[in-house]
Amino acid sequence: MLKDKFERNHDYLRISITDKCNLRCTYCNPVDLPKGFFAGHNRMTADEIEKVASVFVEQGIKKIRLTGGEPLVRKDVKDIIERLSKFPIELAITTNGVFVHEFIDIFKSVGLRSINVSIDSLKKDRYFSITGRDEFERVRENIDLLLENDFFVKVNLVAMKGINEDEIPDFVAWTKDQPLHVRFIEFMPFAGNAWSGDKIISYKEILDLIASRFSFEKLADDLHDTAKKYFVPGYKGTFAVISSMTQPFCGECNRLRLTTDGKMKNCLFSKKETDILGALRAGEDILPLIRACVWEKEKMLGGQFTPSIDKINASDIQNRSMIDIGG
Ligand code: SAM
Repeated sequence: MLKDKFERNHDYLRISITDKCNLRCTYCNPVDLPKGFFAGHNRMTADEIEKVASVFVEQGIKKIRLTGGEPLVRKDVKDIIERLSKFPIELAITTNGVFVHEFIDIFKSVGLRSINVSIDSLKKDRYFSITGRDEFERVRENIDLLLENDFFVKVNLVAMKGINEDEIPDFVAWTKDQPLHVRFIEFMPFAGNAWSGDKIISYKEILDLIASRFSFEKLADDLHDTAKKYFVPGYKGTFAVISSMTQPFCGECNRLRLTTDGKMKNCLFSKKETDILGALRAGEDILPLIRACVWEKEKMLGGQFTPSIDKINASDIQNRSMIDIGG
């Protein structure tokens, strides 16, 4: 078991398999990344991902989510999916959805059924202005394709003031006839993403916007859920809010992360990273490093800030950009 000093057990690992992405969402993938930013040859190979994952699985990891960057742009992603699907875990993926149609058969063949797709707007022009790419129709079609094939589909969008707040009720309307699970994510601060507290649409504001059009009810949340779940009676799908900033869920956090260059982070906001890949390549035993990294986890938000939004100074936060951590 991977326990920290606050008695939290960790059984969920998110592995970033690339720091590259085909989209240019500024809240995630800043345009002014420093030269030489990408991990290059320091990226974990498929072999290394499998080896490191096997150590985590032996220690009780029950769920692995592949992320990035955009995981489906990595050339050997099929190989990685096949290798990880051999472990006794639930395998899941978070994707921007652009290439899903090319991978649906492999998802089916390995039993990967849970897919999170990011789409920040339901308007083609606005999608383009957020992502810098004209992929709206492809992503919508791919979400339909996943639903037609009975995948469990969560739709992620980052709720940002002045960007997409007017569409929040439209996303809930989408759950009327489709069994999808929309998740509104509070905008989080990362290196280079021009975050400020006044750009957040808070959990409470999101619910107020939805209440202006719908009556809804609360669903029971699971112990480790990051999302607070709701539904509109009679609708096929559900919606939820990931209130990372205004009501964080650190108390029951069961997550660990590996960046594409093989650094372990015990929290999305942790300053400290543990070099698992370096140790693996040096032939060292990585388990003591993993255990120490888990043990040192801070009580809340990587120890970097508290949920008082107006007191957060984004430039004081030491972290990578989201594309580089793996969301
Ligand atoms: N490329 C994939 C995708 O688009 O889903 C996986 C990686 S992306 C970093 C994972 C998730 O992180 C996406 O749902 C994205 O919206 C979210 N994300 C990125 N930057 C964020 C931020 N600053 N605040 C909140 N969520 C963010």
